[in-house]
Amino acid sequence: MSALAQLYQAAILEHSRSTRHRGVLDPADADQEGINPSCGDELRLTLRVDGDRIVAARFDGQGCAISQASAALMAKTIEGHTLDEATALVGHVKAMVHGEGVHDDLGELAILEGVRRLPARVKCAALPWTTLEAALATLPKTR
Ligand code: ZN
Repeated sequence: MSALAQLYQAAILEHSRSTRHRGVLDPADADQEGINPSCGDELRLTLRVDGDRIVAARFDGQGCAISQASAALMAKTIEGHTLDEATALVGHVKAMVHGEGVHDDLGELAILEGVRRLPARVKCAALPWTTLEAALATLPKTR
């Protein structure tokens, strides 16, 4: 199987398992929308934060399998992490999809590394993470 086919298969599989983190938190401490015009991916991310820790993350929206799989992986991964850890993860994932190497701590997120061979899809994989970055920026710094 080609790398492309493997990436798609893995992404779609992950997407099909993603219902647990799909939805909108109301009330939410952060509510952020992200768009990737080059593909048509639309994402809404809501976060609930307790102290400096993300206690719940949900995503909603529509788009290609890669953006949806990346969003599902993102929501699943950041729950339970601190805001600083989430910020570090954003950096690691953005570096990875741009071909700058895979950080040891990424675990199953490393599946997203395959998109670096598909330049048109890098923005799809990165969208949930740039949306998370924007969401984190809306939170008060002195929590
Ligand atoms: Zn896309």
